[in-house]
Amino acid sequence: MVISEFKNEPLTDFSIPENKKKMELALNKVKGELSNEYPLIIGNKRIKTDAKFYSHNPANKKEIVGSVQQPSEQEIEKAIKVALDTFNTWKYTDANERAGYLFKAASIVRNRKFELSSWLIYEVGKSWVEADADVAETIDFLEFYGREAIRYSNPQPLTSIIGEANELKYIPLGMGLIIAPWNFPLAILAGMTSAALVTGNTVIMKPSSDSPVIAYKFMEILEEAGLPAGVVNFLPGRGGTIGDGLVLHPNTRFIAFTGSMEVGLRINELASKSQDGQIWIKRVIAEMGGKNAIIVDESADLEAAATGIIASAFGYQGQKCSACSRAIVHQAIYDKLIDKLIEKVKNIKVGDPADPNNYMGPVINEWAFRAIMEYIEIGKKEGQLIYGGNGSATTGYFIEPTIIRDIESNDRIAQEEIFGPVLAIIKAKDFDHALQIANNTKYGLTGAVYTKNRKYVELTKQSFHCGNLYFNRKCTGAFVGVHPFGGFNMSGTDSKAGGRDYLLLFLQAKLMSEANIVA
Ligand code: NAP
Repeated sequence: MVISEFKNEPLTDFSIPENKKKMELALNKVKGELSNEYPLIIGNKRIKTDAKFYSHNPANKKEIVGSVQQPSEQEIEKAIKVALDTFNTWKYTDANERAGYLFKAASIVRNRKFELSSWLIYEVGKSWVEADADVAETIDFLEFYGREAIRYSNPQPLTSIIGEANELKYIPLGMGLIIAPWNFPLAILAGMTSAALVTGNTVIMKPSSDSPVIAYKFMEILEEAGLPAGVVNFLPGRGGTIGDGLVLHPNTRFIAFTGSMEVGLRINELASKSQDGQIWIKRVIAEMGGKNAIIVDESADLEAAATGIIASAFGYQGQKCSACSRAIVHQAIYDKLIDKLIEKVKNIKVGDPADPNNYMGPVINEWAFRAIMEYIEIGKKEGQLIYGGNGSATTGYFIEPTIIRDIESNDRIAQEEIFGPVLAIIKAKDFDHALQIANNTKYGLTGAVYTKNRKYVELTKQSFHCGNLYFNRKCTGAFVGVHPFGGFNMSGTDSKAGGRDYLLLFLQAKLMSEANIVA
């Protein structure tokens, strides 16, 4: 089989009437499928339990997107057993065959793009454009990791010596957990799951409780692609209830987690404690939060900087781990830049994201709504509210894009991850001061600098400590293969999703050395 070079999936242009029409039809079709019930999928069994929970449309909280099963101890044990048993055969499957399932799944996702985007719009409040990007990234992960698995299965270079034949082979780890967030509920879930399975591992796939339906859709796609039963087991459930048991289980070999710092640290701590019967050190791959900054230097193109900051701070309601929550601005252009930000933020429409005229939709749930509104109150005391600040949780969880100026580097809204549409503006005396402020965080995920000064570009490359650093562009919107993604410090375990090192996190290397037998 000849496999073409990896290329990113193109994004959909909704200004083309045909695409707009397709999206409207898909939204209508999916609307008719809301409130269905979805079973657990363990091996080849579809299971319903007594306890259920519901996924709601955050733009219209009365609307149920679907209901799923809360597994009991019994189903959890069953899922672990099935995943373990399946590992015994799956680990020997040829890498080309495993990659083939990913390529098939990518083609199914491509064919169902508009429908999957519609689920994302209803279940997690993404705008058309944001939903389409999530689906495109899903395709990219499947296509990229499929190719990567084949690369890792090829003979690996070793230094040769006389009298021995040496071989190094990457083998899978075992049975692991995929614990995913709701903010990229398709792309991140699919990315972590596909990386684990294509390298020969089997998994229990636990989506966020806010996005179990889109996860079920992905599970269906894997089945349709012909993936053998038991390789991926769909086990939604409240993380606070089932998470610890899964993480502590002695048969769990690895945990691939994306989510908040608090939960990531808890998983890391629990996983480090060896349990009775456990014969390995569990591997934890944790991708966590951010407190990302965009620096604007006095030489910058202020129009471009304001556009980049607005897109990074308010795209998907600021609910991206890469979102800009701090704008650090040189004092010489501080007021001028703020004027530009206000001019631009005024054009943002907030409302039901099923309507493409709304750039911003709701925040994910009531808990998030309250937490963000509290941060706005804190921000009002710490600085000066200059735009937005209001929210309404009547029909859905809507919050205006909010800008607060004159924040100090150690203020709470400059330190804590808010994960909502709140931008803090901090004044810097000079460029060195701006860099100091940017690095004054326990996180280290993304960052950007707007400058025309080459000296500052080089200085920033050396000293702005974040995993994804951009110049003269926004700090969100990483493309698979192009911008491998992941952060430093409390942003995670320094992994790079969508990069050439990523699959190694799901593999271990076995060296085999054979002495030449002289006849
Ligand atoms: P979260 O609350 O930490 O939840 C993430 C996942 O962990 C969910 O599936 C959740 O299940 C589960 N969970 C909760 N408690 C658990 C426990 N005790 N044991 C095991 N699993 C448990 O995060 P989120 O609100 O979904 O996502 C937003 C966060 O993710 C933000 O901090 C964001 O920055 C971060 N994020 C980081 C990246 C990155 O690449 N670095 C990418 C995207 C998002 P339930 O939903 O059932 O509680």
